[in-house]
Amino acid sequence: MSEILSGKHALITGGGGGIGSAIAAALHGLGARVTIAGRTQATLDASAQRLGEAARVFVALADVTDEAAVATMFASARAAFGRIDILVNNAGAAFSMPFGKTTLGEWERMLAVNLTSAFLCSREALPAMVEARDGRVVNIASVAGLVGAPYISAYCAAKHGLVGLTRALAMEVAASGVTVNAVCPGYTDTDMVRAATSNIVAKTGRTVEAARKLLVERNPQGRLVRSEEVADAVAWLCQPGASAITGQAIAVAGGETQ
Ligand code: NAP
Repeated sequence: MSEILSGKHALITGGGGGIGSAIAAALHGLGARVTIAGRTQATLDASAQRLGEAARVFVALADVTDEAAVATMFASARAAFGRIDILVNNAGAAFSMPFGKTTLGEWERMLAVNLTSAFLCSREALPAMVEARDGRVVNIASVAGLVGAPYISAYCAAKHGLVGLTRALAMEVAASGVTVNAVCPGYTDTDMVRAATSNIVAKTGRTVEAARKLLVERNPQGRLVRSEEVADAVAWLCQPGASAITGQAIAVAGGETQ
């Protein structure tokens, strides 16, 4: 197995499940030490166990929308494995509701978990990366960060914001060699899509199969994306060969956006 990221320390938010867990596995598999962060000890521990080799895995409990908790998380991660070389802002949540029924609370929750979290974590990680003239930030946005879709205005606005943050930060640090990119998955087979399917069933009376078909049909390949496919794109961006790629928003969505 290639150890191309040996010696690097990667911090992955939302590393306890779904796409985040697959990203942690991909980077760990390339030799990196990984810190996985989230709010739920049990899922983080299970994710860490799947990685094996405990000496290269650190678990940090934090709500990434909480400024003080993010600062503590970074301090403990640095104490465990040193400077963060790779930051993957993956933690996120989705919410579906007609625009007119979206409350201010849900709007703010979407911005906090999908956008402000990346601001807080990037602000912690970037100064040392820039000083070292080496580092990678990868933001897990969504095709909803590239194109509009009905009934997800708050999520869509937050993910478009995340793509905007990606582009702006990439320009701000470009001369240092640090890269900042976004990976934009289409519907991916995780708990998030299972929750979206249940929501469609509850709101429309469709069967689970019919609800899932609605999501699958968005993808020209006629299937859900796999978490490992998103993780592979992230892992590629973190390798030395991707050093000229910055400010990009790369769709991993079977051709859903062009
Ligand atoms: P998931 O299975 O629901 O995982 C989300 C992760 O984020 C969980 O590990 C969760 O852990 C963590 N998280 C949520 N809120 C957090 C908070 N406030 N602080 C810290 N951690 C938090 O979803 P997923 O599908 O893997 O999604 C991962 C990313 O991909 C998200 O940004 C999502 O928007 C994006 N995405 C997903 C899809 C899809 O179809 N699945 C498509 C496009 C983009 P805790 O709850 O334990 O904190």
